[in-house]
Amino acid sequence: MAELLPVIGQIDESTLMLEPLEAAVVTAIRRQGPLSRSDLSEYLDYSRASVTGIVGRMIQTGVLTEAGEGKSAGGRRPFLLDINPNLGYVVGVDIGATSLDVALADFRGNILRQASEPADVRGRPDEFLGHVADVIDDLLARQGAIPAAVVGIGVGVPGPVEFVPGVLIAPPLMPLWEGFPIKSFLRERFPMARVAVDNDVNIMARGEHQAGAGRGLDNFIFIKIGTGIGCGIISHGEIYRGADGAAGDVGHICIDYNGPVCHCGNQGCLEIMAAGPAIAAAAEARAGAGESAFLAARLAERGSLSAVDVGDAAASGDRAANEIIRRSGKMIGGVLATLINFYNPQAVFIGGGVAGIGHGLLSAIRQATLRRATALSTRHLRIEYSPLGEDAGVIGGIWLALENVFIIK
Ligand SMILES: [Zn+2]
Repeated sequence: MAELLPVIGQIDESTLMLEPLEAAVVTAIRRQGPLSRSDLSEYLDYSRASVTGIVGRMIQTGVLTEAGEGKSAGGRRPFLLDINPNLGYVVGVDIGATSLDVALADFRGNILRQASEPADVRGRPDEFLGHVADVIDDLLARQGAIPAAVVGIGVGVPGPVEFVPGVLIAPPLMPLWEGFPIKSFLRERFPMARVAVDNDVNIMARGEHQAGAGRGLDNFIFIKIGTGIGCGIISHGEIYRGADGAAGDVGHICIDYNGPVCHCGNQGCLEIMAAGPAIAAAAEARAGAGESAFLAARLAERGSLSAVDVGDAAASGDRAANEIIRRSGKMIGGVLATLINFYNPQAVFIGGGVAGIGHGLLSAIRQATLRRATALSTRHLRIEYSPLGEDAGVIGGIWLALENVFIIK
């Protein structure tokens, strides 16, 4: 845990208004870490004198602080500049189909307090988000801070989002949220906060890019395997959303024209055939058919099975469970090969609740992908589980908030 912040009161909104060059300084430090004045002048290709002037003003307004000394290039060691962590608080909110994760962070993105709980998004959005605001209030109280100290909130939701207004469009898992004004609802409780909303897998990709294995990579994809299957795309260092925000919805790629009907109305989508519920349903069928003692015992004990149960069974050497996982991995890997041929990413990171069920899934995905994708596109390709795991979403929410916290003049 990072050091405790002093109690921060209401911040002057003008502090968060930046000139374009000031915004470039912030972006450079966020990408590179603390930099000296001469590093900045080189990185931004501006004269040392103008950088010194800009940085001086930014220290005065409290956006930057001097953070120790860097390496000397002969002569006096230069002071390094970093973002002032105490400028205000930001909040990352990761809403999953069955879970809620909220984290309070300082202005450098370090998590200070965190809360996770099971949740159900199928109900009314005002009730759900009212509870989210209560959870944020609780984290603030534990930190000794007030709601007006929150300057940014980044929210990830499990459905298609129109990014600028921050509203869900025809979300299959949460139909009551259609068009609900998430931004203005949260601003009523946190009046100083700029609120940004994105779909859950985009924020996970962003988390991986800022703070995980995607740091320093400009082109990669993040696959979330949970109740559904989705894909976040980092292209040239930015989230790629496509024309309307629908890019990356790979769960509804057809892999079997005669397959089961998906909740989207089509038949044989990857998601309905290979995601968590499909793994659980296959396990229940195998348990019922007497093909797995482990799964049958678990089913008798709990009344139903989840993908995690299948992972546990596989870890104990259960043959049926291993077959179920391999089958899912093969289907996901087949689609992944197509994505890789199309996009040629440097890396694929895999996260979401089902990614935690063991390495059998990852090796089946890798095998199917490498068999089907072209040699050139896989020559330098990495396919790995997300090292941030369950935290990729809230960390991405924090960075979504930080990216949207300043107003560029
Ligand atoms: Zn579908």
